[in-house]
Amino acid sequence: MKDTKDIIIFDPHIDGKRLNSITSALKKKRYSVRGFRTVEEYSLHIERSKPDAILLRLPEGLSAKNLKLFTDHAPIIGVLDKYEDRLIKKAFKAGIDEFVMLPYNAAEIHLKVECCLRKQLRNTELERERKHLKAIVEITSLASSTLDPQEILYLIVKKIAEIIPVIRCSMIRVDNEHRYAHVVATFESPRLKSITLDLNKYPEIREALATRTPVVVNDIKSDPIMTDVRDLISPLGIKSIIVLPVFYRDTIIGTLFLRTSRSGREFADHEIKFCSRVANTSANALYSAFLFEKSENEKIHLGKLAITDFLTGLYNTRYLYHRLEEEFSRSHRYNIPLTCLMVDIDLFKRINDAYGHKTGDHVLKEFAQILKKNIRKSDILARYGGEEFIILLPNTSKKGSMSEAERLRLCVKNHKFKTLKGKQSLSVSIGAATYPHKDITTNDELITCADTALFNAKDKGRGKVVVYK
Ligand code: GH3
Ligand code: MG
Ligand code: MG
Repeated sequence: MKDTKDIIIFDPHIDGKRLNSITSALKKKRYSVRGFRTVEEYSLHIERSKPDAILLRLPEGLSAKNLKLFTDHAPIIGVLDKYEDRLIKKAFKAGIDEFVMLPYNAAEIHLKVECCLRKQLRNTELERERKHLKAIVEITSLASSTLDPQEILYLIVKKIAEIIPVIRCSMIRVDNEHRYAHVVATFESPRLKSITLDLNKYPEIREALATRTPVVVNDIKSDPIMTDVRDLISPLGIKSIIVLPVFYRDTIIGTLFLRTSRSGREFADHEIKFCSRVANTSANALYSAFLFEKSENEKIHLGKLAITDFLTGLYNTRYLYHRLEEEFSRSHRYNIPLTCLMVDIDLFKRINDAYGHKTGDHVLKEFAQILKKNIRKSDILARYGGEEFIILLPNTSKKGSMSEAERLRLCVKNHKFKTLKGKQSLSVSIGAATYPHKDITTNDELITCADTALFNAKDKGRGKVVVYK
């Protein structure tokens, strides 16, 4: 608040002496006065200045152009030399707020100006309150009109940014232990999904989480909370920050995070109050966003579990059959070859007998990784049984399958198993079958033929590749 208030008097009839005397009388009430006798001078001045109040001689003042325009920011007090009902009504209609009678009386003017300013302040507050309430109602109804929590959170931060001038307004989600923080919505980028924040760099957020109360940093240059990160964030051109914890029941599930630019100003109390209300309103949406993400992750996790072999992490037979069906029908439809390799570790029983079942498990895991590393991205590798694996090679002919199987067999043969003492290697037998083939009309038959070829490989002394004839 300024110490003195600027008052303008427009009065074509006022003489210099009277203007001086009222000016000095009002000066004692901490008003600084400027007087104008012509409409032109008065209009020119008022276009460029923002007086706190205007005294307007009537009826002459009514002809001052844009009387209404100025009533927005400064109360207008009409000045009359005698009580004239019609003129007063007309002046009120044109936008005056009060009137006084001549002669000029400093005490009366002071009283009326203060009264007008108080009324104006109350109006501004009411108007602001109305705007804030409207925004809260809008947020609440938006929250019930869409089921997408991400969208609601974005609308919330956008709404805040519409009302409070900020350079950043984000909704941040934190976990129970406050180990991580994700920006889940920010008004600067509508499509943002989630960015992780390093809480070490945000002492103000840590403070809000620890104290469970709003944190207001009026000036990052001087606030002790920001000491550790001042150098880091000073180039960002930020002046003030507020962080408001968002509670779901008793738990903090996130924070609202606002920043103003260096050229901006500090946050006003009413803005902090508004944001606190919004923070409370947004708790449900934030919580739903949290649940949604969690259930999506769980779904993905469960989905992965359902198709994964527990020991080796490779696909299981369930997934293998599903893909086999797809690949087989694609192969049939477009007349492209499909090869099935059945890979079986030779004499694996002996490994178990010599090293124990547990080591046998480790060997199987290591074996699975060798296969995985040495196949193409488009190949499908699955654990078919104990020490048996299947690899589907889409778009691979009989000739190609032979060299591919031989390459894999040698990869295993040349590998020294870390899990075995003495870094021993293993030998494998591989049976291969390729569709199209006269004996193969179904996907099951493709596997049976590969199995027959594998049996032949074992029969011929193991450590071999046999292609189904
Ligand atoms: P062949 O060359 O004829 O395939 O001989 P083999 O010993 O590998 O074949 P056999 O079918 O006689 O034995 C398979 C062995 O694989 C027996 C079984 O204990 C072992 N095995 C199967 N699944 C697992 C497993 O998950 N972990 C461990 N450690 N061993 C397994
Ligand atoms: Mg075996
Ligand atoms: Mg076997």
